[in-house]
Amino acid sequence: MAAPRARGRPSGRTASLVWVPEKKYLFTPGPTPVPPQVLAALAEPVVHHRSPDFRPIYERCLARLREVCRTQHDVLLFTTSGTGAFESAVVNLVTPGEPHLVVSAGSFGERWLEMVGGFGGDVDSLRYAWGETPDAADVAARLRERPAKAVWVVQSETSTGVVSDVQAIAAAATEAGALVVVDAVSSLGAVPCETDAWGLDVVVSGSQKALMTPPGLGTCAVSDAALAARGSSPRFFFDWERTRAAQAKLDAPFTPAVSLVAGLDVALGLLLEEGLDAVFERHVRLGRAARAGAKAMGLELFSPDEDRSAVVTAVRTPPGIDASDVVRSLRDRFGMTIANGQGALFGKIFRLGHIGWFDVFDIATMLAAVEIALADLGAEIERGAAVTAALEAYEHAPVG
Ligand code: PLP
Repeated sequence: MAAPRARGRPSGRTASLVWVPEKKYLFTPGPTPVPPQVLAALAEPVVHHRSPDFRPIYERCLARLREVCRTQHDVLLFTTSGTGAFESAVVNLVTPGEPHLVVSAGSFGERWLEMVGGFGGDVDSLRYAWGETPDAADVAARLRERPAKAVWVVQSETSTGVVSDVQAIAAAATEAGALVVVDAVSSLGAVPCETDAWGLDVVVSGSQKALMTPPGLGTCAVSDAALAARGSSPRFFFDWERTRAAQAKLDAPFTPAVSLVAGLDVALGLLLEEGLDAVFERHVRLGRAARAGAKAMGLELFSPDEDRSAVVTAVRTPPGIDASDVVRSLRDRFGMTIANGQGALFGKIFRLGHIGWFDVFDIATMLAAVEIALADLGAEIERGAAVTAALEAYEHAPVG
């Protein structure tokens, strides 16, 4: 066996630190760590998708998806990424020339703006500065000025850490007679997303975040109203009706990623066994722990300091320090992957993901490493306070 490759040379005050060269930690906002039970399911022999070996798995996985989405309607399962599942919403709902409203406060809002426009939608944008939280009252006001067929909104804007009040935005859209399409790629299974109770017409997600499965599956919960509102844009693979009708017979229209479906089935089972409300509470606590730790180090948060921001914690780097160096240092020295800022925030913030299979000790680990990296990069930070603050924040205050 080849000798393990030594990671980048430690420097500065912590030069004597000893670590395990092959250990890897995935602390990004997706993909996220996959539990061993799910990995075991992925390693099972491949089954045929039109055989009795697959059908019970498919059926259970689809039923569990409905539970996790909290909907009685169909959740369509595509072998694709989150963007693919989102594109299914666009090609089914956008007919060239129809008015749509896209709410954008970050990288993913911008992507949907481009996509809805790219498919010919007459798009109005309600744009916020990255890091701001969209306001339902603004959505209502904009729809009064200019009605839209659908409002497209991101629940958890992974580029900034902001989680929007989708319930309020959906109420404003419904009041104005518009459909509501929600990007819940990084939020489904991490924070509440009540598809039916909140009147969400379309909820899009992906396997690789809170659903604790490798990348490769996209999901799309679709209401009867959304199905009825399908337009005339050309589509085939992503045609909702084709997949809906096939799923109803447990006969996928195209070869699905059968191993990923088997893995997702197990992962959803784990979420439901823990209990969705317990999972949401755990994420609230994880967010509190990450924020408390960062603040205890003396760092400034970029993402909002509020319980709803339970998916990604975005932190500004101290003056004179480039986030790229923090990201590189964690990766090269400790095998830890965290995320840089996106767009104009590149180099200015780093993002800690705490989505899915995480507990407070993961937060403690990432904070301890960030502390070492920043200190070695010359930041004036409070040493030793972050982990204690994180553990306390996780444990003590009640959630609810
Ligand atoms: N929307 C949000 C909020 C995301 O976080 C991501 C991925 O990071 C996407 C959409 C795109 O998903 P994918 O990369 O699976 O296409």
